[in-house]
Amino acid sequence: MDSSRPMCLLMAGSPGSGKGTHSRRLANDLGISHIATGDLLREQVAADTPLGREAKVYMDRGDYVPDKVMVDMIRHRLSEPDAEKGFILDGYPRTQTQATELDKMLADLGQQIDAVIILEVPVDEIVERLSARRTCPACQRAYHMRDDPPADDERCDDDGAPLERRTDDEPDTVRHRLKVYADRTAGVIEHYDVDSVVRRVNGEASVDEVAKRIDEALGL
Ligand code: ADP
Repeated sequence: MDSSRPMCLLMAGSPGSGKGTHSRRLANDLGISHIATGDLLREQVAADTPLGREAKVYMDRGDYVPDKVMVDMIRHRLSEPDAEKGFILDGYPRTQTQATELDKMLADLGQQIDAVIILEVPVDEIVERLSARRTCPACQRAYHMRDDPPADDERCDDDGAPLERRTDDEPDTVRHRLKVYADRTAGVIEHYDVDSVVRRVNGEASVDEVAKRIDEALGL
């Protein structure tokens, strides 16, 4: 990796593959910003902004929010000062338009993608994980209620907020999200392979073990 400029990483993988958990940890370890489009959207929904109200309709169905909204959101986020220290994009790009626009934005910023991490997890495991997932509405940290529960009953270890089940984690919506990912995103992510920046990581293991595999894949 080129260490003369800030690091730019993409975290990809289907819903429930662990993108949020691992990109948050990695950003923390590397001292770069964690930019998760799902979190940015949920902040807008929680604040009941016009954008949040529009996005919620798509998110509750398990569909993608329109490209125009997402491209503008990422352009704005990448122009904030903390992005200058480097970043990991979690859940973006998900469509060909988003990928093409991202390439242009990075070129304008003098940036290029150092690595695309793809977390690979079998579908059955994903459905199980998402049905057991509870999320902190304040900091977005995710817990698996059997394998990685919070210390205090149903409250977040970090800020004490009562954990919630995301409305899009209902089994039917999960199945739809997986189909949308297969139809619209898997092929887009494959394209990065031609630049040999893709690092495929088997995400079917404990959080610590997968973290180790990601670090190894990045040569950290
Ligand atoms: P997951 O990856 O598990 O679906 P996220 O929290 O990353 O969870 O995203 C939740 C929802 O937010 C998605 O189902 C979609 O509706 C919306 N979303 C997030 N990122 C994007 C994106 N890049 N393009 C379109 N919609 C997005």
